[in-house]
Formats: sequence, structure tokens, C-alpha cells
Amino acid sequence: KLSARLSAVAKYVPNGAKVADIGSDHAYLPCYLAKNNGISFAVAGEVAQGPFQSAERNVSAEGLSELISVRLGDGLEVIQPDEVDCITIAGMGGALIASILENGKEKLRAVKRLILQPNISAISIRKWFLDNGWVLTAEEILEEDGKIYEVLVGEQGDAPMTPYGQNVEAGLLLGPYLIMKKNLVFKKKWLGEKNNWQRIYHQLENAAESPDTLEKKQELIHKIQLVEEVIPDEN
Ligand code: SAM
Repeated sequence: KLSARLSAVAKYVPNGAKVADIGSDHAYLPCYLAKNNGISFAVAGEVAQGPFQSAERNVSAEGLSELISVRLGDGLEVIQPDEVDCITIAGMGGALIASILENGKEKLRAVKRLILQPNISAISIRKWFLDNGWVLTAEEILEEDGKIYEVLVGEQGDAPMTPYGQNVEAGLLLGPYLIMKKNLVFKKKWLGEKNNWQRIYHQLENAAESPDTLEKKQELIHKIQLVEEVIPDEN
């Protein structure tokens, strides 16, 4: 059975899609998509030898070698321009995901949808979308085995405008759709982050003052305020 985390990614892969899963590791996601989402073709890309072999083994054991092409290579270099219309990248940091997109820009022309699951720093992806003409069209947040995950969906072409609204900065950090919903997992994540920042702030208050600690403290206060605007104290 696919994890709740990868199921949240799979949910956004359209029927009939030609999809590349980059950093596929065991290739669980493309195997699931081939069996359940009616995709027409998939590439499972991996940069590391061990995970690449594990992907090859699983795809062949599932009898899916006709549908899923397992390829060894860095980021989007494993796909041809026009080969896929949907890309999934899951289980890495947001900055790494954004750098994979940045380095493979010329491969994105025919791609309609990106489904990304950053373990940390979703803000890096929202910023990359904004800077590169991609519209954030959906977001999910979920908790599994004590960890909180976000899924971000982006589209290019005639997607409607992202509802960042008035507070773009808070939207970039916390996610405009997630802010509108404010579900329990969302509150748990950001109240937890706020606690961390407050703890670090107090540690810095006890440290020797320098331009560095001053700047760091201002940054923390600013982020704490962004979270408090979105999730005001309950009492
Ligand atoms: N996507 C799977 C998931 O979400 O369960 C696997 C996540 S695993 C933690 C991250 C994988 O990404 C590793 O197998 C790693 O080798 C691969 N990876 C990291 N950087 C990559 C890159 N630039 N190109 C392709 N694969 C990469």
C-alpha cells in the first residue's frame, strides 16, 4: 500500500498522463500510477546507483517494464523535451527540488503540471513558481508517522492566478491555499515552528550581541509575526 504522503502526490496525476518521477528511489510512485491512475507512460529517474537498481528491480517484478522506463541521471536530464506532460518530485528538500527545476528549465516546455512534495522549505518552491511563470494551483498538508508533509501543485499555461491576496509574504511561507483552510495539521506545523523560533530567539538574547545576532533576531521576530497574523493566539 502506498504511503499517505505519496498518495497525496498521486491524487494530482491526471488520467492518461505521461509522467516523470524524479528521485524515484524504489519507484513505488510510478508503479502505483501505472496500476491505479491510468497513466500512458512513465519515466523513473534516479541519480544514485543503489536506488536506480532498486527501481529497476521493482518495475520488472511488477511486470511494468513496458510502461515505465527506469533511467540513471541527474534531475531532468533523464527526460527528452516533449516526452512527458507531468513531473513528480517527492521526498527531498524544497531548495533541492527548486534547483532541479531551475537546472532543467528547457525540459519543462511541454510540461503542464508539476506535483512536488518538499520535506522542508516549501517556500523555495513557491518562490521558484512565482519567478518562473508557474501558477500554484493546489496545496495539501498531511501528517504521517509523526512527520508533517506538504504537497504543492503548479501549472503553466492558462491556469488562473494564485490567490496570494494581500499578504504575499505569509502566503509564500505558509501557502495561500493552506492558509485559507487552516486545518489542524497546518496549525500544528506552524505553532511548532513558532515555538522553535521563540526558543532560538531567547537563546540569542542570552548570547553576546553582534550585528549577526541582531539580524538573526529580527528575522526570527518577523517570521513569528507572519505566523501570528495567520494563526492568532487562541486567548
Ligand atoms: N521520491 C521517493 C519518495 O518520495 O519516497 C524517494 C525519496 S528519496 C528520500 C530521495 C531520492 O532522490 C534519493 O533516492 C536520491 O538518490 C534522489 N535524488 C536526489 N537528488 C537527485 C537528483 N538531482 N536527480 C535525481 N534523483 C535525485
